[in-house]
Amino acid sequence: TVADPAELLAGLNPAQEQAVTHAGSPLLIIAGAGSGKTRVLTHRIAYLLATGRARPGEILAITFTNKAAAEMRERVAGLVGPAGERMWVSTFHSACVRILRREHDAAGLRSTFSIYDAADSTRLITLIVRELGIDPKRFTPKTFAARISDLKNELITPAEFAERAVTSNPFERHLTEVYSAYARRLVAANALDFDDLIMRTVQLLQAKPAVAEMYRRRFRHVLVDEYQDTNHAQYVLVRELVGGPGTSGADSPVPPGELTVVGDSDQSIYAFRGATIRNIEEFEQDYPSARTILLEQNYRSTQNILSAANAVIARNTGRREKNLWTASGDGPKIIGYVADSEHDEARWISSEIDRLADECGIRPRDVAIFYRTNAQSRALEEAFVRSGQPYKVVGGTRFYERREVKDAIAYLRAVDNPDDDVSIRRVLNVPKRGLGDKAEAALAEHAARYAVSFGTAVADAAGAPRPGEDEGAEPPAVVGLTTRATRQVTGFHELLTSLRHSRDAGDGVADILDAALDASGYLAELRASDDPQDASRVENLAELHAVASDFQAANPDGTLADFLERVSLVADSDQLPPSADVADQAENREQAEVQAREQGQVTLMTVHTAKGLEFPVVFVTGLEDGTFPHARSLADETELAEERRLAYVAVTRARERLYLTRAAVRSAWGTATAMPPSRFLDDVPEDTIEWKRIASSMDALRGGGTGWGASWDEGGFGARRGYGRSSEATPDDDGDFAPAIGSGRRTRTGKLGRVETPKDRAEARRA
Ligand code: ATP
Ligand code: MG
Repeated sequence: TVADPAELLAGLNPAQEQAVTHAGSPLLIIAGAGSGKTRVLTHRIAYLLATGRARPGEILAITFTNKAAAEMRERVAGLVGPAGERMWVSTFHSACVRILRREHDAAGLRSTFSIYDAADSTRLITLIVRELGIDPKRFTPKTFAARISDLKNELITPAEFAERAVTSNPFERHLTEVYSAYARRLVAANALDFDDLIMRTVQLLQAKPAVAEMYRRRFRHVLVDEYQDTNHAQYVLVRELVGGPGTSGADSPVPPGELTVVGDSDQSIYAFRGATIRNIEEFEQDYPSARTILLEQNYRSTQNILSAANAVIARNTGRREKNLWTASGDGPKIIGYVADSEHDEARWISSEIDRLADECGIRPRDVAIFYRTNAQSRALEEAFVRSGQPYKVVGGTRFYERREVKDAIAYLRAVDNPDDDVSIRRVLNVPKRGLGDKAEAALAEHAARYAVSFGTAVADAAGAPRPGEDEGAEPPAVVGLTTRATRQVTGFHELLTSLRHSRDAGDGVADILDAALDASGYLAELRASDDPQDASRVENLAELHAVASDFQAANPDGTLADFLERVSLVADSDQLPPSADVADQAENREQAEVQAREQGQVTLMTVHTAKGLEFPVVFVTGLEDGTFPHARSLADETELAEERRLAYVAVTRARERLYLTRAAVRSAWGTATAMPPSRFLDDVPEDTIEWKRIASSMDALRGGGTGWGASWDEGGFGARRGYGRSSEATPDDDGDFAPAIGSGRRTRTGKLGRVETPKDRAEARRA
């Protein structure tokens, strides 16, 4: 069932229609939030298929998150039927994994390569820093990890960096060493980190013209959503896949593929990962024959929401003015709320969601709550657990970063890839089996001496013959292991070997996981513990087991490697197994599931994760200077501009109702800090917002205002008269949330300064 082309165009405005039907040259669509960019991409794909201009296999569509990819696949399938299933719709990372797995020979990889996530890379870098004798306090592994990631995003290899590094700079000198050691160790471990996925694919396409040409013949249409957030490596990858001048395919007989990119420079929020809006701004130079289409009508939000969004982003300089408008009317006013603390904020949000359900029939699934940093989800989660509000945290909850989950995955990886040093070392002494630092060091030394992997050192210690050698061949002995340690290492080796047998015998992932957790004694140890945290660890492992069983059911032929690949990609980005919380609270799990399907759960996520999505009701929380904008950005114009774009993204996710909340006091690391209102609140036009509560009780007490529920008109905004701070002032603490002192914006009278009101500032501006 392929859709009728005319039908596909029916619901589009003229500019959108042009974008959908355009043919013959690269196409750039730039437009503000909610103007239908993603919709145009989806319709364009469907239109290509419906008019016979492309077959599903010829289309490569790139989205920013797995969730977005799944949605796009679903939408295209909805438009053109199951033919849509055969298209490649994926994130940059998933597409690269697919290419590298297929072309592993050409890429110089073994097909079973592991994928290291950020935590794995940092762990490996920590090992390297230690081995190189670098002082980890002076130069932290995290810093090295971040810089190496930057280099890879710029496609700079260790050798290239070694040539350009400033050797008089001690950090750069160390970085040269660490980067090249890190690259060697990844190769030895048969592993790639996230940035490698892109860089190695680019290198493959550039070094192997035949491979590149095959993909160019295959993908005649390349479409990229959220192009403003591509980094240099991704930019080059797209160019190489499309071919044409300036690429390794310049002289190829295959004509360049058709490229469509859509984006919005105002929504560029990944500069910290090397994203550069240069890619969008210079698209016309890079592709001289390109056509550019602007979309100006917003179909997502009400005028009140749009006015607030436009006003917030308008303060950024050097941007292309946009003329976003909507035909959907003003809609309800934005609602503002000033809470006393983050707990008060969370409680109020929870009760407001109840009210929306009772009075407006709004279902939890229609509601999303955004925050700037992951840590902010905790207070919200607590409030929801208390009120029994079903919720899910998307992205960043780090289900896959919880210790026990990582341990279990490390076991699986160690089983699947005998050279995966990071994973094998992670579980060597987990649960404790008397193989401490000394034993680990002896094995590491052995591995270094014989230039073998850590896994091979383990096998050597167990006296197992190396692969390809005779049964009777004696491996070299490991020096420095006690008899007891040798016995333990042997046991560990046998455990891994028997799990590998189970894998080879075709056992399912869930069964292998079971066996690993049982035979290692891991589960027994947690069960025997009376630490309540260990009980929840057991629950998390049960959750992981459920993930593995689901995988097994959905992919009867799926291998352990397939499962691990799925997990690493999901763990990095956005999806999570559904939380068990809902079911736990209901007496009957089934009943809870039915209810969850109909009513759904409130979604909690960071603003970064919310990109591209939309919800009828949105709460943007923590609107405080020092929270959002983030404290780190307050002294830096460039970073502030990025925070402002982030605020623009947050606000433009809302379709009908938008809430802006802040807490007057926020606690971090056990310290409560008074938080001034976010400067972004100043820009929200007064006639678009109604404050349900405009001052905290602290403001009221200190300022002697009218207190709870005070409003501008009552003149009771306590903060206006200052906090009148005395010696019981919140201790200084430059934790994550502490406001920057002396940003030059606030008149300082007390220790934390007199806090101006938005009105004060508006008056000052007028004067
Ligand atoms: P963002 O910048 O946030 O990614 P976007 O430009 O990709 O936004 P879409 O998500 O494609 O915007 O569209 C926003 C909403 O408007 C969607 O619900 C979409 O279905 C709807 N929409 C877009 N174009 C039209 C149209 N011509 N008629 C009706 N609805 C439309
Ligand atoms: Mg979009």
